[in-house]
This record gives sequence, structure tokens and C-alpha cells, in this order.
Amino acid sequence: MSIPHTFVQELLARADVVDIVGRHVQLKKGGANFMGLCPFHSEKSPSFSVSPSKQFYHCFGCGKSGDAINFLMEHTGASFVEAVQDLAQQFGMQVPEDDTSPQDRARAAEQRKKQTTLTDVLEQAASAYQKQLKASPRAASYFKGRGVTGQVAKQFGLGYAPAGWHGLAGAFANYDDPLLEESGLVIVGEEKDGQAPRYDRFRDRVMFPIRNVKGECIGFGGRVLGDDKPKYLNSPETPVFSKGRELYGLFEARNAIRDEGYALVTEGYMDVVALAQLGFPNAVATLGTACTADHVHKLFRFTDSVIFSFDGDNAGRRAARKALDAALPLATDVRSVKFLFLPPEHDLDSFIRAHGKEAFARFVSESIPLSQFLVDAARDGCDLQTAEGRAHFASNAKPLWRRCQRARSSNNY
Ligand SMILES: [Zn+2]
Repeated sequence: MSIPHTFVQELLARADVVDIVGRHVQLKKGGANFMGLCPFHSEKSPSFSVSPSKQFYHCFGCGKSGDAINFLMEHTGASFVEAVQDLAQQFGMQVPEDDTSPQDRARAAEQRKKQTTLTDVLEQAASAYQKQLKASPRAASYFKGRGVTGQVAKQFGLGYAPAGWHGLAGAFANYDDPLLEESGLVIVGEEKDGQAPRYDRFRDRVMFPIRNVKGECIGFGGRVLGDDKPKYLNSPETPVFSKGRELYGLFEARNAIRDEGYALVTEGYMDVVALAQLGFPNAVATLGTACTADHVHKLFRFTDSVIFSFDGDNAGRRAARKALDAALPLATDVRSVKFLFLPPEHDLDSFIRAHGKEAFARFVSESIPLSQFLVDAARDGCDLQTAEGRAHFASNAKPLWRRCQRARSSNNY
């Protein structure tokens, strides 16, 4: 059985070598890489290094090196095909076989081509929106009012979708191109008299292009300038965009996350832009959804410390509880997850403006560790003065604790 090369590439792009190796070797962050005791030769001090950016491991002691598939073969004694199948299964991917399914191969190639065309279309829209921002004093003054400089606006590719139903008709030669609909830029309404109306999804909104870790535009977030509803509007789910997997600002923040040693997870695009402007370029945001395990997993590729920030109100607590659930199975002795609750009178932006950069950095350093938040979450609503309340607390804590321990032991075997 032979496996198409393109599939292997796709698999390696999905799998994270740090994660795969980390299941077998205790790794510690050291600079840009992770270090651990080499599993292939006996040693007392770590000379086994794993590079998240190169997706490669290398032992300075015995010279063994390779990618995630090589590691599985070397470590578990699997054959190439077995290692690929093992890995594919973990990501819910079906291994295509060269000799049996030319149609599948053609379909896969077709799909990859489509994804490229979709990001091309989205890129084209992004630069059209960027141009419109320069042409609209009203939209530009929105960003200026939030203290955003031209440099930061450019870094994030901020733009403006003008009012009117067919703004993008000026940017694309063929407004009827089905790709405009598939990319979520254009909405096709209900057919009437054999004609379906087509119109721009984003109208009279400041635009935040959402990029994948490769830097390609995969969707948009749009915010109204006034008080219209909905305040925030995101691209719909498309073959290139999934809210549950993508984080706004990750591409822009990835180097700062490595440099600062942590990622700060916020709740909105404007938070990310404002933080970058105020000297915290290591922030990302979820896209109007609760934080998922995929989000946390993605962040752990770049750092071993993730801090979630939330409003101090009840909604913030609820969102934090969801983040706790997503992060719990992934937190380990090496990877830390913390929670930051803003005072009720502030958002991130206003906190830093009111108290200054240093005060915010101090505030971040005092964020609540996952273990403590876990205890707080279990205690929520329990009266510890009574035996009944204490029993309730214990039964709340048990399932949370068990998931936490399972994560720890699976990391150490
Ligand atoms: Zn070695």
C-alpha cells in the first residue's frame, strides 16, 4: 500500500510534533524549542530538542532526528504506513490509497485548489476594504478615536466595508462569481421570479481580517460604527474558516507570544488591536464563541502559558467556566493555564489607559492559576459552613479533578 505524498504533507501540517513527542517524552520549553531527555539513548541531562517552528526533533547526543511520523516509527517501532494511519486516526482523517481511489485523490486535490481560491478571493476583498478605510473619514475616525495608529491598522489589515448593498462589485470583475458566496462575502437571497438577489454581507462596518497561522485571510469580523445590531458580525463557516478552531490575531501575535512567554486570550478583535497598540502584542481573541479545546491546543504550539481574560461580571464567570472545561484536559505540569478577571468598571483597553502598562503587567502576573479557579468553580454555590455544602463541594470537585489528573498522567507515561 502506498500513501500519496500530499496526504502525508497534509497530515504533518495538522499534527504538532511537540504534541506527538510530548506524549512520550517530558518536554520543557527552552528558548524557541522544547527540550527533554532523549528517548533513543540513555542520558542524565536533556539533549533532545523539539522545534515547533520547524516541526522537527533532533538529539544532540545520538543524532536522531525527524518529523512526527519518524518519531512514532522510531519510538513505537511502527512501520511508516502504521505510523501514518495512527496519526491520521487521531485527527479523524481517512488515509487514501494510491492504487484504489483515483476519484478520492482527484476530489482531495480539487478541495485543496478550492481552498486556495477562497483565500485568494478573501485577500482581494481585504485589500479592497483596506482602501475603503482610507477613503472614509468616518471609519478612520472610529479607529483614531480608539487610539489606533496607522502602523497598527496596517499590521492588522484593518478596513471598512462601505454602506450600500454591492460595495464589492467595485472590487471583483464578476459579482456573480459563486466564490463570492462560498467565501461568505456575498449573501444570495431567496429566488423571486427566477432571480435571486445577491448582496454584500458586510455593509457599513469596520473590518478585521481573520488570518490563519500562515497569514492567509480566511474570513472577517465586522463591527458597526454606530449602535446598529448586530454589533459584531463574523464570516460564516466555510471550507477555510471555522470559528471553533481559529483565533483572531494569532498570526500577528505569534512571535510576541513566544517572546513574552504567554498568550493573552481576550473576547474581541478590538481588544487585540487595542492591546497591541498599548504594548501587549501577544493577545488573541476567540471569535464570538466559547473557547474550545482546539483553541487551547493551537495556543500551546506557541507557548506553554495561556492566560484567559474575562470581564468580572457573571457572564465573564460563565465564559471562564467554559474555558476551564476546554483547557482542563490540556493543562499539565509543563503547560500552565491562568484566569484574569477585570474589575467590573473596566475592559482591557480602559484598564491600561487608567492604570498604565506596568500596573496591567502586574495584574496579569497575579492572574488566578487553573487549580485555584477549579476549586473556586467547584465551590460555587456551596455553603462550606454546612456538612451538606461541603459534600456538595466535594462531589463538584471530583469530576474536574479527575480530568485534570488524567491529563497529567497521560503526559508523563
Ligand atoms: Zn539521543
